[in-house]
Amino acid sequence: MKKHNFYAGPSILSEYTVKNTAEAILDFAGTGISLMEISHRSKEFVAVMDEARALVKELLDVPQGYDVIFLGGGASLQFCMAPYNLLETKAAYLDTGTWASNAIKEAKLFGQVDVVASSKDANYSFIPKNYVVPSDVDYFHYTSNNTIFGTQMKKDPDVDILLVSDMSSDIFSRPIDVSKYALIYAGAQKNLAPAGVAVIIVREDALGKVSRPIPTILDYRTHIKKESMFNTPPCVPVYAALQTLKWYKELGGVKAMQKRNEEKAAVLYGEIDRNKLFKGTAAVEDRSVMNVCFVMNDEYKDLEDEFAKFAASKGMVGIKGHRSVGGFRASIYNALPLESVLALVEVMKEFEKQH
Ligand SMILES: *Cc1c(COP(=O)(O)O)cnc(C)c1O
Repeated sequence: MKKHNFYAGPSILSEYTVKNTAEAILDFAGTGISLMEISHRSKEFVAVMDEARALVKELLDVPQGYDVIFLGGGASLQFCMAPYNLLETKAAYLDTGTWASNAIKEAKLFGQVDVVASSKDANYSFIPKNYVVPSDVDYFHYTSNNTIFGTQMKKDPDVDILLVSDMSSDIFSRPIDVSKYALIYAGAQKNLAPAGVAVIIVREDALGKVSRPIPTILDYRTHIKKESMFNTPPCVPVYAALQTLKWYKELGGVKAMQKRNEEKAAVLYGEIDRNKLFKGTAAVEDRSVMNVCFVMNDEYKDLEDEFAKFAASKGMVGIKGHRSVGGFRASIYNALPLESVLALVEVMKEFEKQH
């Protein structure tokens, strides 16, 4: 039976990415040895790293004065690395979910943190609006897409302060205006590659302004200077990332991704709103196009386990909701085809008919 992969992360990758990476693991670039065995300093792998960094720049229209880094440690390392490099006295943070609050916790180790707004009391079911960001902060940090709660900031915040953003679960899903940012970071395992690497876009002139000493490996300038080869990079995830980036380019880039994603999301939310058994958990205007959270309507609550089993029997994988929201979450990242969304909708319709 065909499986439809709705896992939240690690999550679905394009067939192009999986196949090409599998082939390179057997024989990398005609070298006769595996991608897992080759020196990261070999000319073949250096070419992979260079092309991956260049493609990130091309796809996101990264302006002059910014650098792209691939670095191990995931997005969570960036929760501390960002303030380590950028927070001198005070930073503003928007608290929109578990990942945002983890970032806040780390930033507090480095300076004063002004949490400008939080939707915690509403179990993070919406994105706060009309907050004021003080003008005397070093940067304003926000999470563009809240993977666990299924909410998403629809556009860059309109503030006159350099932005820092955790874009782990929606990077490459739409165009962004990089020039507004001091730093963008994303763990790879949602829209890019297997876990083990993060992609970082950093503005060079935002660096070197803090007075504290920074350990070499945690200093962004190290990785810019060494072109993401300061130490051994996670070669397999970087190679897989390059395949995904090539696939995005072939399909028409992030604008084309945005169109596909909006179409998929409209189909799924449309069914959640129509079907008598289900309801969405996120505020309608903040609904994520990447992570779709839904629960059974109150009068059908006791059908939850039955629906989970029914969906699994039809090939749906990974739709169990995060424990902090309950119910279901269908992650419909870039690589998930419309066909999988249609299959899930069919399962929801069929289940409704039986009840
Ligand atoms: C998954 C995720 C993280 C954590 O990423 P790691 O690579 O596991 O550290 C952080 N932020 C967001 C928004 C995520 O979705």
